[in-house]
Amino acid sequence: MSSALNEALVFECETGNYHTFCPISCVSWLYQKIEDSFFLVIGTKTCGYFLQNALGVMIFAEPRYAMAELEESDISAQLNDYKELKRLCLQIKQDRNPSVIVWIGTCTTEIIKMDLEGMAPRLEEEINIPIVVARANGLDYAFTQGEDTVLAAMAQRCPESVNKKKEPSNLTDQSNHPPLVLFGSLPSTVVTQLTLELKNQGIQVSGWLPSQRYTELPTLGEGVYVCGVHPFLSRTATTLMRRRKCKLIGAPFPIGPDGTRAWIEKICSVFGKTPKGLEERESKIWAGLEDYLKLVRGKSVFFMGDNLLEISLARFLIRCGMVVYEVGIPYMDKRFQAAELLLLQKTCKQMNVPMPRIVEKPDNYYQIQRIREFQPSLVITGMAHCNPLEARGIDTKWSVEFTFAQIHGFTNAREILDLVTRPLRRNDNLKALGWSKLVKN
Ligand code: SF4
Repeated sequence: MSSALNEALVFECETGNYHTFCPISCVSWLYQKIEDSFFLVIGTKTCGYFLQNALGVMIFAEPRYAMAELEESDISAQLNDYKELKRLCLQIKQDRNPSVIVWIGTCTTEIIKMDLEGMAPRLEEEINIPIVVARANGLDYAFTQGEDTVLAAMAQRCPESVNKKKEPSNLTDQSNHPPLVLFGSLPSTVVTQLTLELKNQGIQVSGWLPSQRYTELPTLGEGVYVCGVHPFLSRTATTLMRRRKCKLIGAPFPIGPDGTRAWIEKICSVFGKTPKGLEERESKIWAGLEDYLKLVRGKSVFFMGDNLLEISLARFLIRCGMVVYEVGIPYMDKRFQAAELLLLQKTCKQMNVPMPRIVEKPDNYYQIQRIREFQPSLVITGMAHCNPLEARGIDTKWSVEFTFAQIHGFTNAREILDLVTRPLRRNDNLKALGWSKLVKN
């Protein structure tokens, strides 16, 4: 099945038979971001094994997350779920004293229909700690969408803005525009960078969802404008609009200098500000990237798709002079990503390259056949396929690194290109050895 956006972008949908991380992996970055939180994943040993292996060395750092491991007696309803969870949460309260406990529902809690949302408010009252429930399971979501479910649940806990009157009467003293809350979890250095970029344009960021601490969640409500920094936060966006009555600013995402500029310009235009010095800023960043751009220009790339950052990254790489054959993506929200898709289209036209195929719910098996045919210079994919492809003489970049690296804003564009060019640089250096293909076909 395929449909066209402005007769140019072609969307396809395959079987959904692809590799990605389970969304419960979001605990790894969210517990670090929200300093006073504790994440309790309610699942089985399968989930535990995944977390333990995927998060690598982090598990030795006494992380603020744990597994409530379901046993046979839980599943056959012989034990009382409520009592068990209460016991665990009391223990967490005693040992760590967090300001919030986040319950992460998994495939098993879905299948046995454990009523987490029903139990949480009761328990919350009894033990006197907020309990937020997020169903970040592998049945419904992929990888980064885990953060989306947590933030959507947290959006409901943000305090209501006192000033309920409609603009322009809710103008604050410090700024001459309505309050702006940005959503998406980013390391605090990147938060500071993006906040400063907007401040330079005379725009005050009144809060971030999530904040550094649960107790400092931003106030939301009618008249508050919200804007996302990650392409995978469509549920959070919907919750902010529908439940909290916020106004969503639909902009491309601040990934790459082109995306960052478009993101700032969009926010400026909503607040009626004329952007200052952005064009020069962007060209300066591009000029600084020239050493990397030389390596990627004219090369081709294939995204197998597993983290939902693909459209933004593809758009940036096309601007860098690469040709993108295919953008695989687990889930495509055309409304939330509308501005990003438009920018992708514009970029393809400006760079005079064909539009990439966008394949939602890709099938890794078919993709491998296409990779064989296209022989792209670089495949961005998960660890399951990296080494097998490398052994067949195809350069790969492990996609998960884009999720954990700092890729937002003007200054971090270098980081993206550093990741993208690393395999190209390495394999260039090793070419002389003549071992590019290591398997018999
Ligand atoms: S896919 Fe389901 S069972 Fe597997 S780790 Fe994720 S939540 Fe657990």
